[in-house]
Parts: sequence; C-alpha cells; structure tokens
Amino acid sequence: MHRFDSDRRKTLARLAAIGAAALAADAARAQAAPVATDSKARIVIVGAGAAGLASASHLRRRLPQASITLIDARRDHYYQPGFTLVGAGIKPMHYVVSTTREYIPQGVDWIEEAAAEIDPEARHVVTSSGRKVGYDFLIVACGLELNYGAIEGMDTAWIGRDGVGSVYQGPQAAAATWQAMSAFAERGGVGLFGRPHTDMKCAGAPLKYAFITDDRLRRAGSRGKAELHYLAPQKVLFSVPIVSEKVRMLFQDRGIRTHYEHQLVSLDLGRRLATYRSPAGTTELQYDFIHVVPPMRAPEVVRNSPLPWQDGPFARESWMEVDRETLRHKRYANVFGVGDIAGVPKGKTAASVKWQVPVAVDHLVGDITGKPSAEKYNGYTSCPLITRLGRAMLIEFDYQDNLYQSFPGFIAPLEELWVSWVMKTMALKPTYLSMLRGRA
Ligand SMILES: Cc1cc2nc3c(=O)[nH]c(=O)nc-3n(C[C@H](O)[C@H](O)[C@H](O)COP(=O)(O)OP(=O)(O)OC[C@H]3O[C@@H](n4cnc5c(N)ncnc54)[C@H](O)[C@@H]3O)c2cc1C
Repeated sequence: MHRFDSDRRKTLARLAAIGAAALAADAARAQAAPVATDSKARIVIVGAGAAGLASASHLRRRLPQASITLIDARRDHYYQPGFTLVGAGIKPMHYVVSTTREYIPQGVDWIEEAAAEIDPEARHVVTSSGRKVGYDFLIVACGLELNYGAIEGMDTAWIGRDGVGSVYQGPQAAAATWQAMSAFAERGGVGLFGRPHTDMKCAGAPLKYAFITDDRLRRAGSRGKAELHYLAPQKVLFSVPIVSEKVRMLFQDRGIRTHYEHQLVSLDLGRRLATYRSPAGTTELQYDFIHVVPPMRAPEVVRNSPLPWQDGPFARESWMEVDRETLRHKRYANVFGVGDIAGVPKGKTAASVKWQVPVAVDHLVGDITGKPSAEKYNGYTSCPLITRLGRAMLIEFDYQDNLYQSFPGFIAPLEELWVSWVMKTMALKPTYLSMLRGRA
C-alpha cells in the first residue's frame, strides 16, 4: 500500500511537471504580441461560450484598438466537459457552472441578447430585440443545437425520472441523470445507450456513460442483474478505426452488447419503450434506464442564414461552410466559424476549440495588418475516454486519424490509465479556463 501511494505520488509529480511545461508552452504560444496597428476594425463575435470567449481574449490582446463585441444571451457559463462527471456522481453540479461575465476581457463589449439574424452581404447581425450591429469581421461561435424534438415522444422534462437520463442537456439534467442512473445501478434491469446519426459534440461522452454505468452496477453488486446495450446508427463505435476497435473489445470484455446501424427514432416514456430504425426494419426495446443523446444541428440563426454548407456531408445539419485549415468562410472572406458550429470533419470538442481559435484569429489579424497568416489547423482533437471510475484512455487524433501523444513515454493512447483519469477529473478544467482567458 505504502509503495503504491509513493508510486502514485511520483506519477502525479511527473504529470504536474509535464502539465506545467505544457501550460507554459501554451501560454507562450498564446501570447502572440499585439500587432502594431491602430486599426479600429469592428469585430463581432456571435456566441460567448468556449470558442467565443477564447476568441475575444486572443483578439483583445492582439488588437488593442479594435472594437470587439460579443453577442450572447446566456449569463451562465457551462463547463460542458464536466457534465459527464456530474452525471456519474463524481462532481457536484456547481463544478460545471460559472458566469459568462468573469471571462470577458476588459474592453470587450457584451450585448446580452441572442443573435436573431446574420446578414453577411450587408455585414450586420440583428439581435433578438431588433438591434442592428454592423461589423468588418465576424466570428461565429454559437455552438450547436440539441435537437431532442427529432426523437418522437422525447420530453426533456422527463430527464431524471422514470429511467430517463441525458447528461447533454445541461447541468441540472446531468445531476438528474445521476439520480436516475444510480437508482438503476442499485436495481439492475435493461440499460440502453447510444449516440445520434448526426455529427455531435464529444463523441466519446456516450461511450463514457455506458462504461461508467457498467462500473456503477458492479460497485453496487447489481451487474449480474443488468443487461447493457450500446446502439450506434453508424457501422462503427468511434470515427477513428483503431479506437473503435479498442472500444468494441472493451465493451465485449464488460458484457456491453453492441448493435450497429440502429438509430433511436422514438420513445414511449410512459411505457419505457424505445424504438430503433435499422436496415432490417424497426426494433422496440423495453428499458429500465436509457441515456438519450439527441441529434445535433446548427442553431437556427445559422440555419436561416447563407452561412451553411450548400451540399456535401455538412449541409444536412447546416454546419458552417468554412475552410478546414483556416476556419475562414469559403464564400464570405471576412467571416470565420470556430467551435462546434464549424463544418469540418473532426472536432466538436473544447480541445478542438483550443487549437482552432488561435489559427482563425491569426488569419483575421493578418487581414487587418496586410500580412497574411500561414497558420493551419490540422484537425487536432482529444478525448479522455473514461472506461471505469479511476481509469481513462487519453485519445488524441487529427483529420487524418493519426493518433497523437502529448505525453510520450508517459501516457499511451489506447491504455486504460489512472493518470489519464486524473487528467480528465482534475487537470482538464484549469486548462479549459486558461483557454477562455486566451492563455492556453
Ligand atoms: C456531455 C458533454 C461532454 C463533453 N466532454 C468533452 C471533453 O471531455 N473534452 C472536450 O474537449 N470537449 C468536451 N465536450 C465538448 C465541448 O464542451 C464543446 O465542444 C465546446 O464547448 C464547444 O465550444 P463552442 O463555443 O463551440 O460552444 P459552446 O461552448 O456550447 O458555446 C456556444 C455559445 O453560443 C451561444 N449561442 C447559441 N445560439 C446563439 C445565438 N443565436 N446568438 C448568440 N449566442 C448564441 C450559447 O448561449 C453559448 O453560450 C463535451 C460536451 C458535452 C455536452
């Protein structure tokens, strides 16, 4: 026991040293000097979540004279990567809630309204009260919309009762999901998990939640009384083939049954009945607990604008038509799309935001100074995939499905490690908050 603790202490000390070095490197990279320009360019940012706040912080530092305006009605800031932890009963709800105000840099204006209309031809945004805000440059960072309505019979008011969970909907829903899941973990029964047919934020979270529920059942001594199913609309469990295979093997090992090409289309919440569509027809499954992850799409303000892709794989959910390396709009050169709204092949994580924002900002600054930027975003994203309480796999990859290792020789990507769990549960939030402040 003594030896074990001392090994863990050493590991933590090494992790802290590596983490500090990584944060210092991030900070140095992020501290690109203010540019020598007295440009009073008007820059509007739609959305003050992870990507909007990080953009405002970078821009404020680099363009001290510019007029920067954030538009967002939401006063609370949600640390969404923590929703899974709240839903697992590991963190309290307040762990994921803070205020938007505390991350807004000095000298940045905030209009506390939603954007109702974006007109890239006229170069203005209209807010929900009808106020017209003109811009020279626009950054769209309005995240995505959870489309629970696309699942017939789904009612978010049921989250937390009658065996319905969904950590995605927000902090309250995550806490309520923990109530429903922990009751299920005590009793056992049939548990259903899965993901939507659309692109989604944090594609690892539905997998994590199945693993965590399995572990909670084991800890409660009820695993023998439970049957767990994971139903994916795709032919794989994860978009990166080697990761998909690893998860399949782990699911097999834990007795979680996998079903491919099964899309959740309707729910009868009163009868606890879920209907899935597959190439073979429809299947009805009775459940005692279901974790619902809804289809996702661009928010209405983007769907109703000329900004979405017109065809191709990103058109159906109206993701923004941006260049995958520069995040610049392909038809409106003074418009950028960062974060979940960007129609790019990988991402929709806070980790992607961290690498996308400095690139988009550098291109915008380059336009102002007349010195074009050569910065490129390669699709880097990461996912600390919890596989049981106390263990996670840190998975990092890019557009080409290349696996990365930020901690070579220390954290192997496809291994279930305690140190990756520590990163997810302790180290990720400080890094995220530094990112909002433009320091990571
Ligand atoms: C359950 C869950 C687990 C996750 N786990 C991880 C993880 O482990 N690691 C990781 O890196 N990422 C994770 N993520 C994903 C990560 O949180 C998101 O990818 C990230 O927050 C995206 O940033 P964003 O700024 O694009 O969107 P958001 O942070 O969602 O911000 C969007 C903002 O736009 C605003 N907005 C919307 N519509 C309008 C409008 N019309 N006008 C003005 N403003 C508008 C919203 O109010 C919001 O403030 C997870 C997400 C969830 C839900």
